[in-house]
Amino acid sequence: MKILSASETDLETAARALREGKLVAIPTETVYGLGANAFDERAVARVFEAKARPTFDPLIVHIARTEDVRQVAREVPERALALARALWPGPLTMILPKKPEVPDIVTAGLDTVAVRFPSHPVAQHIIELAGIPVAAPSANPFGYISPTTAAHVAAMLGDRIDFIVDGGPCDVGVESTVLDLTGREPVLLRAGGMPLERIEAVVGPVRIPPRQAATVGAASLASPGQTLSHYAPSTPLYLFELGSLPGALAGAAMPHPSLALVYDSQRAAVLESTGRFDEVVALSPGGNLGEAAARLFSLLHSFDARHFEAIYAERVPEEGLGRAINDRLFRASKK
Ligand code: AMP
Ligand code: MG
Repeated sequence: MKILSASETDLETAARALREGKLVAIPTETVYGLGANAFDERAVARVFEAKARPTFDPLIVHIARTEDVRQVAREVPERALALARALWPGPLTMILPKKPEVPDIVTAGLDTVAVRFPSHPVAQHIIELAGIPVAAPSANPFGYISPTTAAHVAAMLGDRIDFIVDGGPCDVGVESTVLDLTGREPVLLRAGGMPLERIEAVVGPVRIPPRQAATVGAASLASPGQTLSHYAPSTPLYLFELGSLPGALAGAAMPHPSLALVYDSQRAAVLESTGRFDEVVALSPGGNLGEAAARLFSLLHSFDARHFEAIYAERVPEEGLGRAINDRLFRASKK
């Protein structure tokens, strides 16, 4: 594996490698993606292999111009065009009817395809230079926390891929919002970096299905990758309502070392004053959901390296990016 910079020459190398069927990790505004030529079945198969990702979990296809959506989607409903005009490029993935040219391995055999136009200039430039749509899941082993820096990718997948393009830390820090636009009403399949409020401002009410249980057969899940234990760190993480710590742990024996992960410095001060945790960390000291999202995965990666016995996390406010943060905390938690 070779780490490339964001220089023009290095981006040309990355683009050529993609065209030749190699695996290239690329920075996007959400998280780092593990890219492959979406029209090259063998390259895409290597993505699943490198991640040990089950093939029932479909990939997102990345494009660098809105009109290229027609390279992979059979139909683009007016609602999708309106969303593209308002919110692309950005952290919104749209599920649309798939063209037969897209290999089945990309979409896990579904008749639909997930498409996104990322806003990260490096991702855009690589896709433009490659001249092909790029299928890219998050660049982490299946079920583990997504990478938000090139170093995270190198540590987790370095020995299994060809290149990593280092574009610095990801601004948004959580995966894209996934919206199904194939039915009569838009359906939210995954909360993510594009706040629901901004989507509803364009297309009106979005249906939010009840949380899908991981125990049902994966094939019957509307969004197959959304298993409940996704994004799990290896340190046990216990999730609590906002404001409920330490009350919810009353009388419990604390393991050492333990860590409390809370929203802002106000909550952190309350928990520090109890002396029950060995360390207390605020996702965003100033209480900003964007900052909390951008720091979430980096913090979880760093906690894992420090071998705490337990992490006690509180949910953040359930609005804007808070939905995606709470969703990832829930998936990372012990059930
Ligand atoms: P990742 O790129 O690792 O963040 O995962 C992409 C996720 O997008 C998958 O796990 C699915 O949940 C979702 N997805 C991709 N393609 C489809 C599709 N055709 N229908 C429904 N969900 C999809
Ligand atoms: Mg992923």
